[in-house]
Amino acid sequence: MSTIAENIAKVGARIREAAQASRRDYAAIGLLAVSKTKPAAAIRQAHTAGLRDFGENYLQEALEKQRELSDLPLIWHFIGPIQSNKTRPIAEHFAWVHSVDRLKVAERLSAQRPPQLPPLNVCLQVNVSAEASKAGCSPQELPALAQAVSQLPQLKLRGLMCIPEPTEDPAAQHAAFARLRQLRDSLGLDLDTLSMGMSHDLEAAIAEGATWVRIGTALFGARDYA
Ligand SMILES: *Cc1c(COP(=O)(O)O)cnc(C)c1O
Repeated sequence: MSTIAENIAKVGARIREAAQASRRDYAAIGLLAVSKTKPAAAIRQAHTAGLRDFGENYLQEALEKQRELSDLPLIWHFIGPIQSNKTRPIAEHFAWVHSVDRLKVAERLSAQRPPQLPPLNVCLQVNVSAEASKAGCSPQELPALAQAVSQLPQLKLRGLMCIPEPTEDPAAQHAAFARLRQLRDSLGLDLDTLSMGMSHDLEAAIAEGATWVRIGTALFGARDYA
């Protein structure tokens, strides 16, 4: 087995155990492989080992890998910060966007989604840790944003996403993820998705209701930004 295949098996076991511990259906938790900075060959290996959904943060890099991998039936998710002048290629080349945090971006994605494609699945990114440096709308802004985005014709609002402040404290991890779930439930919209949990905190996220865990390091190893 390749290292990537071994890592996929290990992450799969972690997801299964976490699902069991919180009496959730394992099949309701999607594994989104975060492949930013990793070569197309690594994605190809992960696909051979059974993965289908891949998350990318950097548009140019993602488009290049999509071209190299166009022979595979992959599902691409955009999970990085979005500049409003870069929405068109995102609307054209992805099935999901997890990182929508303002109406202008959502309106552009809807207007630019090619009509022959199904509506773009979107999550609203919420800043649950109130860190000044982090992307995401505030919990206060969320209800109005969610209402407006839910009306856009070429988008399908699926749920919420967060990247909490990194912490090894399980109680703090649980609190942040529970907050996202409560915000989702309080909107009164029919939202089936919570995109939350990364390599170090997927257990807490699953316990609090994650439907996508976004896993990079635990699948592909540490990233080298040099
Ligand atoms: C990089 C990244 C991840 C994956 O993080 P790991 O700790 O490597 O698992 C998940 N979500 C987002 C938005 C990311 O940018």
